[in-house]
Amino acid sequence: MINLAVIGDPIEHSLSPNVHTAALDAIGIGCCYKKIRVKKGGLKEFIAYAKENNIIGFNLTMPHKVDVLPFLSYMDIDAKRFNSVNTVKFMPDGLYGYNTDGEGYCRSLNAVKRSFCGSNVIILGSGGVVRTLALKAAFEGAKHIAIFNRTIKKAENIADMVCKASSSNISAFEFDINKLLPLCAECDILINATPLGMNGIKENFADLSFLNSLPDTALVSDLIYNPTETKLLKTAAGIGLDTLNGLGMLIYQALIADKIYTGKEFDMERVFDIVSAELKF
Ligand code: NAP
Repeated sequence: MINLAVIGDPIEHSLSPNVHTAALDAIGIGCCYKKIRVKKGGLKEFIAYAKENNIIGFNLTMPHKVDVLPFLSYMDIDAKRFNSVNTVKFMPDGLYGYNTDGEGYCRSLNAVKRSFCGSNVIILGSGGVVRTLALKAAFEGAKHIAIFNRTIKKAENIADMVCKASSSNISAFEFDINKLLPLCAECDILINATPLGMNGIKENFADLSFLNSLPDTALVSDLIYNPTETKLLKTAAGIGLDTLNGLGMLIYQALIADKIYTGKEFDMERVFDIVSAELKF
C-alpha cells in the first residue's frame, strides 16, 4: 500500500484520485490517494505533513506547479523546459519534480497513430495548458505551430517564449475565423484548448465551418473530456475527420506519474483501457 495525494486550490473537481486509484489497482498496487486543498503559500507546511504521513509522492495543480520549484533537488527535462511540475516524488536525497502533461498528450496522440513531429499544428486558446503543449510540440519537431486566442497578447507571449526556447516555427493570431481559414488547408492536427463546449460552460463555438477547410487526413483534438464528444468533435467526425478527446491526456499523464511513483513498468494501453472504462463523470 502506498500513500499519494493531489494538491491544489481549488481541488474539489479533481479526478486524480479516481484515475490513479483505478490505474494502480489495475497493476496490483493498493494506494490511499488523497485530495488535499493546499492554498497558495502552503507548500512548505504540506511537504512536512506529507513526510510525517509517509506520502511517497504527490501531483500538483493550480496554484503550485511553479511555486514548488524551489523545493526540488532534481527536475526532469520537461519540468525544466516548461518551468512547471505536476508530479513530485520523495527520494532519499530530496524532492524530485517531473512534468508528465506534455508527454501524456503525446502518448494520447501516438495511441491514434499521430505525432507532433513534422506536423502543422493549430492550437485554439492560450491558457496554462497551451504553454506546455506548444513547447512540447516545438521540442517534438512540429513543422509549424499556429496559436489562436481571443486575447492576442497571450498568444504572442506564448509564441515568443516558445521561439526563444526552441527556435521553432510558431505564429500567434487573434481567434477570428477569417484568420483561421487560410491555415486550415495545411493543418495536420487542430487542438481545442479553450473551454468552449465543456459541460457547465454556456458558450460554445458559434461557427465550425472552418472544419470544412481541413484536409481529409487532419486530426481534430479537443482537450475537453466531459463531455467525451463535444460539438467540435461531433461535427468533425460527421464530415469524416479523425477525432481525439481529452481523456487520453488526462489518463496518460497520470499513468506516466504512476510509473515514476512505483518504479514499475506496465502496459500503458491495457491500463488506459481499464481506467477509461471505470471513469464516471
Ligand atoms: P485557462 O488557463 O483558463 O485558459 C483558457 C483559454 O481559453 C484562454 O486562452 C481563454 O482566452 C480561452 N477562452 C476561454 N473562454 C473563451 C471563449 N468564450 N471564447 C474564446 N476563447 C475562450 O485554461 P487551461 O488550463 O489552459 O485549459 C484549457 C482547456 O483545456 C480547458 O477546457 C481544460 O479543461 C482543458 N484541459 C484538459 C486537460 C486534460 O488532461 N485533458 C489538461 C489541462 C486542461 P483568453 O486568453 O482570451 O481569456
